[in-house]
Amino acid sequence: MQVNDISREKSAELYEKAKTYFPGGVNSPVRAFKSVYGTPLFIEKGDGSHIWDADGNEFIDFCCSWGPLILGHNNAAVREKVTEVMQKGMSFGAPTALENELAELILSNNSFIEKIRFVSSGTEAVMSAIRLARGYTKRDKILKFEGCYHGHSDSLLVKAGSGLVTFGETSSAGVPKSFADETIVVALNDKRAIQEAFEKFEGQIAAVIIEPVPANNGLLLQTKGYLQYLRDVCTDNGTMLIFDEVISGFRVGFEGAAGYYDIQPDIITYGKIIGGGLPVGAYGASAEIMDHISPVGSVYQAGTLSGNPVAMAAGIAQITELLKPGFYNDLKLKTEGFVKAIQDFAEQRNYNFKVFTIGSIFWFAFTNEERIATADDIDPESMIKFKTMHRELINRGIYLGPSGYEVGFISAAHTANDLEITKTAIFDSLDIVFS
Ligand code: PLP
Repeated sequence: MQVNDISREKSAELYEKAKTYFPGGVNSPVRAFKSVYGTPLFIEKGDGSHIWDADGNEFIDFCCSWGPLILGHNNAAVREKVTEVMQKGMSFGAPTALENELAELILSNNSFIEKIRFVSSGTEAVMSAIRLARGYTKRDKILKFEGCYHGHSDSLLVKAGSGLVTFGETSSAGVPKSFADETIVVALNDKRAIQEAFEKFEGQIAAVIIEPVPANNGLLLQTKGYLQYLRDVCTDNGTMLIFDEVISGFRVGFEGAAGYYDIQPDIITYGKIIGGGLPVGAYGASAEIMDHISPVGSVYQAGTLSGNPVAMAAGIAQITELLKPGFYNDLKLKTEGFVKAIQDFAEQRNYNFKVFTIGSIFWFAFTNEERIATADDIDPESMIKFKTMHRELINRGIYLGPSGYEVGFISAAHTANDLEITKTAIFDSLDIVFS
């Protein structure tokens, strides 16, 4: 079938230039559009729920910078606060009252952590949380799950080997095997694998780290029962439970997945939303655990730009909006209506297509399964259908992250009209995918 693709002339030109500057033309791999059609779109501006590319194409955006933009692009409150703070200087490498202000907003509204440390990315937050768990327990091994992503630090660029409980295999060149040997990888949603790991490595596991809402390899929702099981096993074994809430934090509710499921982890990591679109990450825990961090404790962690005033300003403005009554409920209702309409359409047409969702996160899966809880349950062949869908949506002015393994986000800026337009585009695209 003949497809009339939008013009990407300027984006293509910029991409050619970018390839001479950056490996693969990008500063983060998924941006290279390797799993979907066409050259990457170079984005020029964003406003509310819309973005515009270098060719002047306009899109309703459901990537939202991979999650941080829960208020949409160029939010006035965030922009004004950032502009005000920037007038006074960009960075001091010394404490500022803004750090206190953001910490106060977070800690007084989150019953799962008592102290927090700001860093500059999700990767840094997780890397530091792992070090804290190791320092605290005086153990070396960590256990992670196949299908969860925790940033690109060495110990976590590890995938499952064969077998129920395995030492991980490195998933990137440059990660020493000896590092991977400290990381145990098991499948999600599998209690037997956890039991076996704790038997095999008794007294050696410093931390179990999980995305309580696994949202980096599809949306592999776990049950509360399974998460509680992990909590109990960790407690019984003197192991720390780390919730990596870089995506779910401030997204599935102000208190993230810990609040959503009402489970108390030992350490929680945050990123994305906490920075209002600027580079911020954080990790938090009880005061007793956090006081193991330097300068009071023996676990070293530092950062030139940690708690950067401009980034703190963005976080303060954004978090203030999230605390307004009804914020999360409105977002959830909006998302539920959107998801239901698409699901109903797919069912009426008998399409092998499901939309999985939690809070304002959704994931399109080409499957008949009612539930997908492990990475292995995803059929890689289904990604061919996503590729066609992505192209059809781009041509209809709808921007999703350029991979079928990525989730989409709904922001407070998405209007009823945006969602109506998007639904029609999705219906038409699905008809083409299944024609
Ligand atoms: N942890 C989770 C759950 C993530 O989704 C991500 C990034 O997507 C990270 C950690 C790493 O965060 P960053 O990309 O800010 O380093």
